[in-house]
Amino acid sequence: MMRTLAPAVLLALAAAPAFAADVTVLTARRIHTMDAARPQVEAMAFDAEGKVLALGNVRELLAQHPGATRLDVGNATVVPGLIDAHGHMSGLGWGMLTADLVGTTSKAGILARLRDKARTLKPGEWLIGRGWDQNDWPEQAFPTAADLDAAFPDRPVWLSRVDGHAGWANSAAMRAVARDLSGDWQPDGGSIRRDATGKPTGIFVDNAMALVESARPAADEATAEQALVLGMREAVAHGLTGVHDAGIPLEELQRYQRLADRGQVPLRIYAMADGNSAALESLCAHGLYRHPSGRLQMRAVKLYADGALGSRGAALLSDYSDDHGNRGLLVMSPEELAAAADKAHRCGVQVATHAIGDRGNRIALDTYAKALGADVAGDHRWRIEHAQILAPEDLPRLAAMHVIASMQPTHATSDMPWAEQRVGARRIVGAYAWRQLRDAGTHLALGSDFPVESVDPRLGLYAAVTRSDARGLPAGGWYPDEKLTAFEALRGFTLEAAYAGFAENEVGSLAPGKRADFVVLAEDPLAVPEAALRTLTVRATYVDGKPVYEAPAR
Ligand SMILES: [Zn+2]
Repeated sequence: MMRTLAPAVLLALAAAPAFAADVTVLTARRIHTMDAARPQVEAMAFDAEGKVLALGNVRELLAQHPGATRLDVGNATVVPGLIDAHGHMSGLGWGMLTADLVGTTSKAGILARLRDKARTLKPGEWLIGRGWDQNDWPEQAFPTAADLDAAFPDRPVWLSRVDGHAGWANSAAMRAVARDLSGDWQPDGGSIRRDATGKPTGIFVDNAMALVESARPAADEATAEQALVLGMREAVAHGLTGVHDAGIPLEELQRYQRLADRGQVPLRIYAMADGNSAALESLCAHGLYRHPSGRLQMRAVKLYADGALGSRGAALLSDYSDDHGNRGLLVMSPEELAAAADKAHRCGVQVATHAIGDRGNRIALDTYAKALGADVAGDHRWRIEHAQILAPEDLPRLAAMHVIASMQPTHATSDMPWAEQRVGARRIVGAYAWRQLRDAGTHLALGSDFPVESVDPRLGLYAAVTRSDARGLPAGGWYPDEKLTAFEALRGFTLEAAYAGFAENEVGSLAPGKRADFVVLAEDPLAVPEAALRTLTVRATYVDGKPVYEAPAR
C-alpha cells in the first residue's frame, strides 16, 4: 500500500509524532493481567495491530504515549480474553439454526416456537427442532404427526426429543422417507410407533430415527458456513476470545479458512483434526496449519478412548455400581488408538483424547507413554479431554508425563445427581478431581464441551468454584475439597487453556508483546461473592485490540 503514496505524503507521515494516534490506552478500575510479574494494573497500551505495548498506571502510560486514543471503561474490570479449551462450534451454530424446544410445557407452546422458526425458512425447507419432553406436558403422552399437520401440511417437520433418543415427524416428513413405512415391520434397534391400524404415528425411537434423518436433504455450503458464523458470534458474546474446536473434518477446516480469508473469524479457533482421518493426513502431508490472520490453526488431533458416563458408555476398570456385568465400551480399540497416536507423534501433531472412565483414562495414558517414548519428557502437550474418572494410581501420571487435563466444570455439576450411583463411593473420589490434579502439578485447561453444556464460561467459572448447581445446591458444594479458587478457575479459562493450545506466549495473559485479547466485565470476577460469578456482565470482548462484541447500550 505504501508504495502507492506520493513521496511528499510519505515525508509528512514520517514527520508525524510516531503515529501516536495508533496507540490506544485502555483504562479500567482494574485490569487482572494473569501475569505474575504484574498481576493488577489500571491501564494498558496497545498498538493498531493489537499488540500490547505496556501495562501500568494511567499517568505513566499516557506520558509514554502522548496523543494516544483513550479507551476508558470506567468502573469495569478487564481480564484476558476467555478461552474455552473444548467446544464444538458448528454444533453450537446448528443448534441456533434449529428450533429450540427445551423448556416448553405444552404442544401449543411448541407450535408457537415452530411458527416463529418457520418464518425464517424458505418454502418447503425442513423445519428441524430439538428438546421436547412429553413428561413436561399436561397429557404426558407421546404426540402424533397430526399435532403438527394442521400448522405444517406441506413443510416437513422433524423434532428430536430432549434426550436425542426419539423423533417426532409430521406427515410431510414421513412422506419424504424413501422406505415404505406401511406394514408392521420394525428396524433393528429401534421402533416405529404405530396406531391400532398399523399406521405410523409420527414417533420414531432410537435406530428408527435414521429413516427420517436420511430423508433430510444435506445442508448446503452456505448454511454450514452460517452455522459457524452464528456459533462464533455466540461465543464472543459470552466473552470468549478463543475456542478449541474438539474434532473437525477437513471440510470444516476449509470452511473456517474461507471465513478467515474474508475476515469473518472474530476469535481464535484452535481446531483439532477428527480422529485418524483426512484432516490428520493433511497435517502429516503439509505440516501444522496456521492461517496468516492468527485466528485459525490446526496442529492437534482428537481421538476417542471411550463413551460417556450418563449412558454407561464410559469404560471402567470394574463393573458399573448400578449395572453389574457392564464395564462400558471403547470407541476406538487400543490398537486403533495406538496407530493414530504413533502417526500423530511422527507428524509432530498434538494428541487430545476423549477419556471419561478410569479404564478409558488408563488406556489413554498407556497409549501416550508408548507412542511418546523418550519424548514424554519433552514439550509435547498431549492432553486428555474430560479426564473425568481417574484411578488413584493414575492421577499422578498426568503431571509425571506432562499430560494436560482438559476438563469441563459444568460436566461435574450436571452429572452430580447420578454420577456416584454409576461408580460408587470409592471411585467417585477420583472423579472430576480438578483440585487433586492441579495440586499434583497437572496443567489444567478448562472448557465447556458446548453445545453439550452451555457455551457461557461464567457457568464454568461458577461450577469450578462452587461445585453447586444454579440454586446453590448442594450447599457448600459437591465433594467441596475439589473446588478451585476464582483465580485458579480464571487461569484455567485463560493462561492454562492458552498453554493447552501452544499459545501462552501470545494470549492467555496481558503482558507486553502479547495480543490485546481481553474482556470488559461490569464486575470483578476475583472480588464478587462466588454466587455472582454466574451473572457477571460481559460489556465487551476484544480480539487483537478491536471489539468483536459490545453489549447493547442499556
Ligand atoms: Zn466434546
